[in-house]
Amino acid sequence: MPKVLDGAAIAAQIKQEVAEEVKLLAVRGVRPGLAAVLVGHVPASEIYVRSKVQTCADLGIFSDLISPPDTVTTEEMLELVENLNQRDDIDGILIQLPLPKQVDTKALLDAVSPAKDVDGFHPVNAGRLQSGRPALAPCTPAGVIEILKRSGIPISGQNAVVVGRSDIVGKPAAMLLLHENATITICHSKTRDLGAVTRQADILVAAIGRPGFITPEMVKPGATIIDVGINRVTDRAEFDRYFAGNAKREATFAKRGSTIVGDVHPHAFEIAGAYTPVPGGVGPLTIAMLMANTVRAAKMRRGL
Ligand code: NAP
Repeated sequence: MPKVLDGAAIAAQIKQEVAEEVKLLAVRGVRPGLAAVLVGHVPASEIYVRSKVQTCADLGIFSDLISPPDTVTTEEMLELVENLNQRDDIDGILIQLPLPKQVDTKALLDAVSPAKDVDGFHPVNAGRLQSGRPALAPCTPAGVIEILKRSGIPISGQNAVVVGRSDIVGKPAAMLLLHENATITICHSKTRDLGAVTRQADILVAAIGRPGFITPEMVKPGATIIDVGINRVTDRAEFDRYFAGNAKREATFAKRGSTIVGDVHPHAFEIAGAYTPVPGGVGPLTIAMLMANTVRAAKMRRGL
């Protein structure tokens, strides 16, 4: 039986460690602070931000939720970010994406002070990550590494194949795996004979954004599969393709009219040595690592 890598339990452990660090900082008169900027009313973004703000409260981190209207301009957002860059009670700045189309997202992310860039999206932090200098690494890829390490999965010397090359998941995940001495291959939509490459993977990271894309024949038996994908399934025929005969999923689908599937076909997990489930795998780590980055930023800014 493949081992299920329990992301929720690992995230809870990291949050516990962060809460302990927050207590130690309080003794020195420091309270880490996170500003969350949520523009307009995108339901999914509202859920994510609410959960981030709640987690701050749970761990003793100060948070400030700032909600500009969806008519906000790039100039107004730049002014807001500059103000947050200057505020001493704010250590981390989180700009929830996506932003309305009139706002220049790149210009805004570039305007965040690298010292407060807890999402790790700023080019300065991307450069630091690549050159192996201490950096605020993007939360989801950092979570992938935590799952592997805390589950005792060896990384050094292993063949790691990352499918997806986005700046927020694929590329930084590959870079972090490289720093852990994996031999890395990065695949994308132009990769020829993808299955031949993924079958070489001891560690296969799927960050594609396509439901059930990695099928069993693309996986080396015994491999560790890290499924970063989050895709909502609402179509019955599609549901059956992934979950026919799965009573628990049937119940969720009947109740909500939808369920979540990763970028890996659930049947591919059956031949893995270990895998992250969806939901409950990589997802919970993202918020935990955001909290860890906020505390890290608070310490780095004060030279602690
Ligand atoms: P993205 O920016 O859309 O990037 C997707 C990548 O997949 C691209 O590099 C693309 O290649 C590649 N790709 C697309 N079709 C492919 C194909 N047929 N064969 C091989 N590669 C293909 O997505 P993302 O932001 O990295 O997110 C990836 C997934 O992770 C999504 O499901 C997202 O919801 C999920 N996610 C989860 C979390 C979490 O907290 N767990 C956080 C962030 C994202 P090209 O570059 O050639 O186009």
